[in-house]
Parts: sequence; C-alpha cells; structure tokens
Amino acid sequence: MKIAIVGAGVTGSYLLNRLDGHQVECFEMRPEEKWYTVCAWGTSAPFISDLIKKAGFNFDDYILHRGKNMTVDYGSGSFQMHLKGLVTYDKHRLCEDMLKGHTVHWGQQVKQLDGRFDDFDLVVDATGMHRSLLPKVHNDLLVPCVEYQVKSDKLPYDDFYIRPYSGLSGYWWYFPLGDGTAHVGAGEVHGRYKGECEAFIKKYDCEVIRKIGRPVRVVAPAYCQPFTAGKVVGVGESIGTVYPLLGEGIIPSMQCADIFVENIHDMEAYSEEVLKHFDIYAKVYRVMKAKIDGNFSYFRQFPEMFAMYRHMKSNERRFGLETRLGDMITAMRG
Ligand SMILES: Cc1cc2nc3c(=O)[nH]c(=O)nc-3n(C[C@H](O)[C@H](O)[C@H](O)COP(=O)(O)OP(=O)(O)OC[C@H]3O[C@@H](n4cnc5c(N)ncnc54)[C@H](O)[C@@H]3O)c2cc1C
Repeated sequence: MKIAIVGAGVTGSYLLNRLDGHQVECFEMRPEEKWYTVCAWGTSAPFISDLIKKAGFNFDDYILHRGKNMTVDYGSGSFQMHLKGLVTYDKHRLCEDMLKGHTVHWGQQVKQLDGRFDDFDLVVDATGMHRSLLPKVHNDLLVPCVEYQVKSDKLPYDDFYIRPYSGLSGYWWYFPLGDGTAHVGAGEVHGRYKGECEAFIKKYDCEVIRKIGRPVRVVAPAYCQPFTAGKVVGVGESIGTVYPLLGEGIIPSMQCADIFVENIHDMEAYSEEVLKHFDIYAKVYRVMKAKIDGNFSYFRQFPEMFAMYRHMKSNERRFGLETRLGDMITAMRG
C-alpha cells in the first residue's frame, strides 16, 4: 500500500518504522529546523523498550534520568511513590533518529486531502491535538500546558516531583533530565498554573533553554469518534490516546500505532480494537470529568474508580510506578 503519514510526532515517526513492505511518506507542517517534540519526556523504560525495539532502536541509548521515587505534593502534605521504571529520555533525538532514512516533506501543513494525496491508499492523521483531517471532536477537552527546559546548579529536587491541582484538573511537574537540567511545567484545565514555573525559574536561578507549550487532549478515544473519514485514519493523540489522569500519551500513541499496523487492511476492525484497548481511558475520563465539573460522587463513580485502581495496579510496569490504594484515595480527595 502507499501510505501518507501527516504529522512527525511520536506517532508518525514510530509508524514510519513499523510499516515495512509499504510505501510510506510523512508530511510535517513545521520546517525541519523549527520542528520540536513538545513533551516532558517521561515514560516507563521497561515497557517502551519493547515497543522501540520493534522499530529497530535501543531505548537505553536515549535515557536521561532513571527515577527511584516520585514526590507527590498535595499541598497539606506529600507522599513518595516508588517508581518501577519511570525515566526521562531524549524523546526529540529518538524521534529525529526514527525519521532518518525516510521520506519526510517538511513545512507542509495539510488541512485537507488535496491533489498531493491522490496516489495514496491511506492517509494517517497523526497530527495530535490538531486532528487536522478528521471531523472535530464534540465536547473536546484540551488541557492547556506550559513547560520550560531549564538548567541550574541550584535545582531543588533530584528525582520526579509533582504537585496536583485540586479537583483532578491537572498538575505541576518537575522531571529531571540529568546534568543539572530539568523540565518544569504545568497543565491545568483552567490555566491555574500561571506564573508558577516563572517563580520557580527565578527562585532557583535557572537558565531557560527552551519554553514550549501546547494543550493536551484528554478526551478518551470512545469520545473521539469517528476514527476514520474516507481514506483518512486517525492514530495517536488525534483520536485521544492519552491517559487522562496523567496526561501521558507516548506509550498509548505507540500502542495505537501497533493496533493500526495489525489491522491495516480492515479499518472497522481497527476502530473496534482501539475502543476495546482504550476502554479504561473512557472510565478514567468520566471520573476526571465528574471531578472537574463538580458532579463527582464516591458512590456513583466507585465502579469506575475501582476499575482505574485495578488497571494501574495490574499495569505497574506499563506506567513505571507503584500504585497503592491509599495514595490514589489521597489524590482523589484533592
Ligand atoms: C507539555 C506536555 C508534556 C507532556 N509530557 C508527557 C510525558 O512526559 N509523557 C508522556 O507519555 N506524554 C506526555 N505528553 C503527551 C504526549 O506528548 C502526546 O500525547 C504525544 O506526543 C502525542 O503524539 P502524537 O504524535 O500523536 O502527536 P504530537 O506529538 O502532537 O505530533 C503531531 C505532529 O503533527 C504535526 N502537525 C500538526 N498539524 C499538522 C498539519 N495540519 N499538517 C502537518 N503536520 C501537522 C505537528 O507539528 C507535530 O509534529 C505531554 C504533552 C504535553 C503537551
């Protein structure tokens, strides 16, 4: 098949390496010198390593910091989460390497299927939150985020640190990147983080290497349908593959790409498989939405909350962190 991939983020660059036997080209709206992978670069090393291997790369070559514990600061106190493989890695360099040797048309913004795509059998919408080629999502939920890559010899933490905002509406984060550098950022539904990263930068005398930001889609795939429109098919964050509670989309977007590869000749089967695989994301999204909207009730949301706990508990390797019921209840109270 001849396949166009629109978007050179983690989904597009991974997919380019998973479609052996097909003719594949990528279209990226940014010129090569301005292209950047906006993200905090946190992921679970044991789990992503297997995925990256399928694309022909060695994940260990990209690891920047191996986490031991994550401090969760909930205002009136804090607790330590034992980490089971959570790392930061150089996501940008890995994406760059995954694009090498492939046909990438830089600086090509695609808003519709024009003549450039007449010859292609499938066009993948891997445009992330833009979802440029698929119909708009009704009641989309895009959480605004800001992030700084900083350098300082006065950084206050030596491991992962997060501070959730009340009502499961987002969190402030500090992700170490090694060598006196870190990602300091925040995402919150109402943008309540304004000024907080800047205050941190001032307090710890940080040099700002880069300021980035974009909203992240936290609406689960079940609410991002349709996944296809004619020969267009959505893969990755364009169809909501972000774990809503954490805003974590690297591994889920790659899993979605794998589901696409496995069902490449049957888009109906692809849609069904995506819905099945990401069913838990819909449950987590409903819990989070109820909290944000002020409609949350422990009684009503108990089955979905319990499903969320069970999912994270039985997938500690996937998330790279230990899940304890007490911690989850503390986090939910906020
Ligand atoms: C601030 C922030 C921090 C995050 N931190 C983490 C984290 O630590 N760990 C984690 O797992 N997840 C994190 N996420 C989520 C994760 O980064 C995303 O879910 C994931 O990158 C989605 O990948 P994608 O390839 O589907 O989309 P993207 O990475 O958004 O890539 C889309 C690409 O498409 C291009 N594009 C867009 N529109 C068009 C168009 N019309 N034509 C051509 N090209 C187009 C864009 O320029 C971009 O290169 C974070 C998100 C944000 C915003």
